[in-house]
Amino acid sequence: MNLSSGNPACLSLSIADDLAQRVGQAMSVMERRDIIEWCTENIDFSDDISAERKRLDMSLSPFLVEPLRQWQFTGKIREVVVCAPEQHGKTMIEAFGVMYSMEYNPCSMLCVYPSDDLAADVNRTKYVPLVKHIPNLAAELERPRAARKDRYIFGASTMFFQGAGTKIISRSCKIVVLDEEDQYPVVKNLSAVDDARKRTRSYNESMLFRVCTPTEETGSIWRAFLAGSQGYWTLRCQNCGKLTMRSCDFGNFQFESTYDDERGLYMVKPDSIRLICPECKHEHVEADKREMNMQGAYVHKFPERYDLKPSFQFGALASQFASMAWVKIAGKILECGKRSDVKAHYELDNSYKGLPYTPRTVSADDCRHLKEHFYRPDQLPPASEIEMVFVVSDTQDDFSPTGVFALDANDNLWLLEYANVTHLWLTGGDRESLEQSTGEKVRTVEDILNSEVNIHGEKIRPLIHVLDYRGHRQREIASYAANHPNAILYAGAGMRQLEPFKNSRKSRRLFYVSAHLYQKQLIWALYRQRDKEGGDYLYIPEDLDVKYQNEIVSVQPDRTSKNGHLPENWKPEHDAVHDAFDVLKMAYFARDLAFAMLSPEKFRVRKSPGLRRTRKTWFERREANNNLQSV
Ligand SMILES: [Zn+2]
Repeated sequence: MNLSSGNPACLSLSIADDLAQRVGQAMSVMERRDIIEWCTENIDFSDDISAERKRLDMSLSPFLVEPLRQWQFTGKIREVVVCAPEQHGKTMIEAFGVMYSMEYNPCSMLCVYPSDDLAADVNRTKYVPLVKHIPNLAAELERPRAARKDRYIFGASTMFFQGAGTKIISRSCKIVVLDEEDQYPVVKNLSAVDDARKRTRSYNESMLFRVCTPTEETGSIWRAFLAGSQGYWTLRCQNCGKLTMRSCDFGNFQFESTYDDERGLYMVKPDSIRLICPECKHEHVEADKREMNMQGAYVHKFPERYDLKPSFQFGALASQFASMAWVKIAGKILECGKRSDVKAHYELDNSYKGLPYTPRTVSADDCRHLKEHFYRPDQLPPASEIEMVFVVSDTQDDFSPTGVFALDANDNLWLLEYANVTHLWLTGGDRESLEQSTGEKVRTVEDILNSEVNIHGEKIRPLIHVLDYRGHRQREIASYAANHPNAILYAGAGMRQLEPFKNSRKSRRLFYVSAHLYQKQLIWALYRQRDKEGGDYLYIPEDLDVKYQNEIVSVQPDRTSKNGHLPENWKPEHDAVHDAFDVLKMAYFARDLAFAMLSPEKFRVRKSPGLRRTRKTWFERREANNNLQSV
């Protein structure tokens, strides 16, 4: 017998060592378990009715692998950022990570969504169906009170979920997930991101995982992406073998188009679509897409930030799904090239490229070219091509700058006449005494609205009247609207309003309008839209008073501020009068509103592409139209 091994102290030590070693092994096996293997084995979409497949197939989404691996964060305080279009696995990256952590790194977790309703919805439709197929977690889910209104309690893990906007829970959480943070409600003195980071500070390892479709360059997710490693998913050239084409960069994506007379639209020629390697100029076709992506990789601009602040971005060219087929991407690019519609530009940037919206730049030199928009009376289209005539009035303290516009069947806007009108409307007695004292006939804004416009001999009555509801004349404007069923009130809303316009709850005819969005749209139309053939062009009468011409071009890039070159930040130079600019801006709102809210019968030709594009159904429009008709 070996005495030393017979020594009880020695024995217990060796058992303890052995035990520690085994526990250590078990721990390291647990830790070493690769999240991709685990996902491939355990993820089963059978109960998710919205899923296209039953099993996870990483070869369809190779861009998910690296973001998922970040969930193996032992010993690190890590912040991960993922920027991507909708419907491409953003929620999966966070849900898989949370479930993987429940198995291998049980702890307290928090998931924050834009609203409480959305939090409940994501849990019901995404988490629960997946959890049911993971044996350990499914057993936990069966226990009474394991799933509560705002949390799951699975063994040693608690996962809290909630909407942003109220202060987030004050518990410490090792893992915090922020989902779609650019959509979080803006609450004064409350930053969900700062708040979330505080939850994790008592741990010596933690994870802050942020996934979002970016909205604007100033949005919090894009700023976080830039602060991280800036990894862009990049496709590999099948000729030179280099990683040369970012999945968000459409500069290498080329195609031809033809004009379809019947539909009045430019159409993509599907055979002409190709993706060109910028290094070797090799032209790829869509059939190469799968290999280019299977061999693709993230290229990080700041690799030294990768360990603790990895950030990832992927866009439409990473996708192998039908919704992002190349012909669809080309169609969207074409639509944006031909239109001044800023909404379409947002959609291309956010939902296709997975990037924040980038304003199309305009230089001050462009402003000299107002004359390109001039037309002679004989160039006005025939009345048979006019969809509607409408009136727009801005509101100053003692007059109303007013423009009369025609919209033609190609979505072109024609300014027909423009004037600063002193009186909005006058009662019979007032008018009489005024005309007697001045010896002149008075023409009010109401008179303009009630007069028919003569277009090549045919008379057309204005359909709607958009008025600025602002300043010191609100009562007068409201009373005018109450007496004119086709009056629409325009109330400029701040920079925070992302949608183009929304109806007031108080009045069906009052709309809060994203003024900066229509400012961008008008600047695009004035200085960037050069294509007169494709429709959606702004025409200005050649004899427009120079005073009003100056008002239009007075809004210029603001050289005194850092982001003054962005169209939404342009300002009137030296505080110049810019009423005519505002009236044109409101005309774009009037056009959008008519497309969205009026029934098609109200339009004269019903051929306008804008009418076909609107997402509202005919029924919704009829309802809205009925509301507009009722005083
Ligand atoms: Zn190449």
